[in-house]
Amino acid sequence: MTQAVVLFGSPGSGKGTQASLLKNCLKVPHISTGDMLREHIREGNSLGVRVAATMQAGTLVRDDVVNHLVEERLSEADTQGGFILDGYPRTLEQAEHLCGWLDGRGIRELVIHLIVDYNIIVTRLTGRRQCPRCGTLYNIVSNPPRVEGVCDLDGQALVVRDDDRESVIRQRLAEYESQSRPLIEFFREKGRRLFEIDASDQTPEQLLFQVCRTIKSPAVEG
Ligand code: ADP
Repeated sequence: MTQAVVLFGSPGSGKGTQASLLKNCLKVPHISTGDMLREHIREGNSLGVRVAATMQAGTLVRDDVVNHLVEERLSEADTQGGFILDGYPRTLEQAEHLCGWLDGRGIRELVIHLIVDYNIIVTRLTGRRQCPRCGTLYNIVSNPPRVEGVCDLDGQALVVRDDDRESVIRQRLAEYESQSRPLIEFFREKGRRLFEIDASDQTPEQLLFQVCRTIKSPAVEG
């Protein structure tokens, strides 16, 4: 069975952190559209140049661009046994595209919605730091690196992502409310498998335990 897990939630809900932990547990690749787009920007290729301003403004990249990117990634051999999608789908058009793709291959996805209190989200996003080399996420309050400002894994100086500035954070949250939140209703209406987990007060490890339990539950495996 292909393990297709969709991590869904607001910016700052912990999708990225959860996906990194979960990939070690499920041994399937973590596909983050945000990371893929940032990689194109770093490489300075034509796609990167096209999406840079959109991302810096905290608005969503065009559906056709993201759909194509994900489809290409999902056609790679390492996704055969499964994959974790993080940050995709984010609009109704993306969700319809993905569901069509999965249905065409007989793959049943599991959507996990991480629910986090709005105030916690704002605190998390404003305190977020990232390693520019390996992508590891930290938070100056809740998950600081061992040495201030330095990545535990490779010693790189941590950075604030361009879109983690306060005005941009507001824009990203507004995009989530208007474009992404309606997907919860879409998943429900279409009878897709949707599990909701309260992720406000748990450590990433506690949350991982719950996510794994959900994935391995009879309702999902059966
Ligand atoms: P977060 O979930 O914290 O906003 P991401 O790294 O997932 O962070 O996304 C960062 C930015 O990348 C988004 O604000 C958007 O501009 C772009 N992006 C990522 N995924 C998508 C997507 N599925 N559709 C459109 N734009 C996306």
